[in-house]
Amino acid sequence: MEDCLFCKIIKGEIPSTKVYEDDMVYAFNDIEPQAPYHIVIVPKIHISSANELTEENSKYVARIFEVVPKIAKELGFAENGYRVINNCGEDGGQTVKHLHFHLTGGRQFLWPAG
Ligand code: 5GP
Ligand code: ZN
Repeated sequence: MEDCLFCKIIKGEIPSTKVYEDDMVYAFNDIEPQAPYHIVIVPKIHISSANELTEENSKYVARIFEVVPKIAKELGFAENGYRVINNCGEDGGQTVKHLHFHLTGGRQFLWPAG
């Protein structure tokens, strides 16, 4: 996708602080962190949102969730816990139209508020 911010980040056309990378996913620090640890994890193919997930591409989501505990352990916040968030579409508050999961840790989040 020509105009996609996260596709450009994956290609290195826009700089990012890489946290993890493999053949299917790329993870980098959020530019506007909402927690002491705030990592954005994206598939290396353009999927615009959770609405576009199918049997064919859901393996990217599986890989992302395999990577979540690896990153949390590596950065040292796994034991205390963390929150994984996907924003989908307008009502979900999605601003970048490339599927991504926020991995946030290092502080306590309250549920349902906070
Ligand atoms: P969304 O609101 O779509 O769920 O999340 C998009 C996230 O991408 C936001 O948390 C925002 O701070 C982050 N973001 C937007 N532009 C950039 C950028 O250029 N670099 C990085 N590292 N993060 C970005
Ligand atoms: Zn993209």
